[in-house]
Amino acid sequence: MDRPLHIAVIGRQGSGKGTQAELLAERLGLSHLSTGDLLRDEAAASGPTAEVVRGYLEAGALVPDALVDALVARAIRAARTGTVLDGYPRTAAQVSMLDRLVDLDLVVELDLPPSEAMRRLLARGRHDDDPVTARRRLDAYEHATAPLLRSYRERGLLATVDGTGSVEEVHLAILRAVIDARRHERARGRAIA
Ligand code: ADP
Repeated sequence: MDRPLHIAVIGRQGSGKGTQAELLAERLGLSHLSTGDLLRDEAAASGPTAEVVRGYLEAGALVPDALVDALVARAIRAARTGTVLDGYPRTAAQVSMLDRLVDLDLVVELDLPPSEAMRRLLARGRHDDDPVTARRRLDAYEHATAPLLRSYRERGLLATVDGTGSVEEVHLAILRAVIDARRHERARGRAIA
């Protein structure tokens, strides 16, 4: 019996990460775990934590690691299946935390040029996507999150998928990356055995 899969989807805002993570989870029977959704739920509650979280979300700033880590740890424990992580990890500290929580099988990078990401964000026209906030969120990606990809690449966990195609094209490319990763894992398993 295969152990549960854990896959992280990482990409610039506007890359379609949420849509693709949801499709992938559905296709593979995994739990879709979006930190954006978890934080928005948290912000919608009442009390001091909700207010703090709301402040970060409205500013387009990263929520402190300890808070996000706690939400993710709880959600992973509650999931009865493997997971597709959407929006996590985004910082080096979150990478360490995730390594303690699960044995990660694959990190999918949805690759989209910054100019196209900005164009898509502004086209969405939600209140958190005004030009200043959109820029801040994209900057947070460049500073905190993009550097994480290198270490995942060195660990042999990274698959970079072109995010410019149609939803279906990108979905199929991600599925191919998952199948390849499984094949490699099996080959490694056999080599050790
Ligand atoms: P996007 O990828 O477009 O930023 P999300 O829904 O994934 O959209 O995230 C919305 C907001 O939630 C982010 O701008 C950030 O403030 C917060 N957030 C989400 N995930 C994390 C995380 N892993 N660490 C810190 N903050 C996060």
